[in-house]
Amino acid sequence: MAALVLSGREVAAAVMEEVAAEVDALASSDHVPGLATVLVGEDPASHTYVRAKRRDAAKVGIRSIHHQLDADSSQEQIEDLVRSLSADPGVDGILVQLPLPRGLDEGRVVGCIDPGKDVDGLHTQNLGRLVAELPGPRPCTPAGVMRILSHYDLPISGRRVVIIGRSFLVGKPLALLMATKGADATVTIAHSRTVELEALAREADILVAAVGRPKMVKATWVKPGAVVIDVGINRTDEGLVGDVDYAEVKKVASAVTPVPGGVGLMTRAMLMSNTVAAARGNISGMGGVS
Ligand code: NAP
Repeated sequence: MAALVLSGREVAAAVMEEVAAEVDALASSDHVPGLATVLVGEDPASHTYVRAKRRDAAKVGIRSIHHQLDADSSQEQIEDLVRSLSADPGVDGILVQLPLPRGLDEGRVVGCIDPGKDVDGLHTQNLGRLVAELPGPRPCTPAGVMRILSHYDLPISGRRVVIIGRSFLVGKPLALLMATKGADATVTIAHSRTVELEALAREADILVAAVGRPKMVKATWVKPGAVVIDVGINRTDEGLVGDVDYAEVKKVASAVTPVPGGVGLMTRAMLMSNTVAAARGNISGMGGVS
């Protein structure tokens, strides 16, 4: 039987509807949430992402305040801007589009974001809250993956999860969310030094690919009936493709996310959700542990 297609479009639409209702409620008490976006340089993919995020903000009624800086901006200029946005009462959430141009220290820039406005959930204080299982803004892509699984009632508890990719943006925070109390998966994180990756992947009830290598995960890597989540976004001559060989894997898996139309849309929707939570003014209301 062909796999269930886990539609990021459908789940993101549900999240956006919830967010729009929350924005309306805040606006009726004279607080229209504001999201500041900071884009440094001319990377075309980053420009596309930021445009999409600003469009999403407009759709749900969030004000967006955009700052474009030249690629040759200094570390100090960027940090000064982020610090001033952190201090600005008209700004509820701050998104610094990553990656920054070579030579800039991303960690230091993200460290200048007020943790209460850190809608990407990447400030070390918020990553610490994730490790400690305290409420806080969760990184958007992992939060989006969790939301897809819950939307389709796909159980995590007790399941064996293999996540390929250990970035601080996707793989590591997702592993923590899945292994946390209440979610209760048993998680293995794989990376470029993992040996016998194919055999390891085949043990997974839930297999997540977050690598950045087009169609790396073949049907032979997937246990029959497994759930496959494709986080990868690769620009190729065929257009956008994921890290999963979708056409073949969907013959083996029980459920799979497409690319495009999968996790990418969820990332954007969770950013809006984190922004409205930040606008409510209490970081402990942001995100959730599962
Ligand atoms: P990243 O920081 O480059 O991390 C990639 C990870 O993949 C690393 O841990 C790396 O291992 C591992 N890896 C590389 N080659 C491998 C191989 N041959 N076998 C096993 N593991 C391998 O990338 P990222 O930021 O996590 O992004 C990963 C992918 O997701 C990219 O395609 C990106 O565009 C996409 N992405 C999508 C969304 C979305 O919204 N859908 C959001 C963020 C990222 P090492 O650590 O050993 O180097």
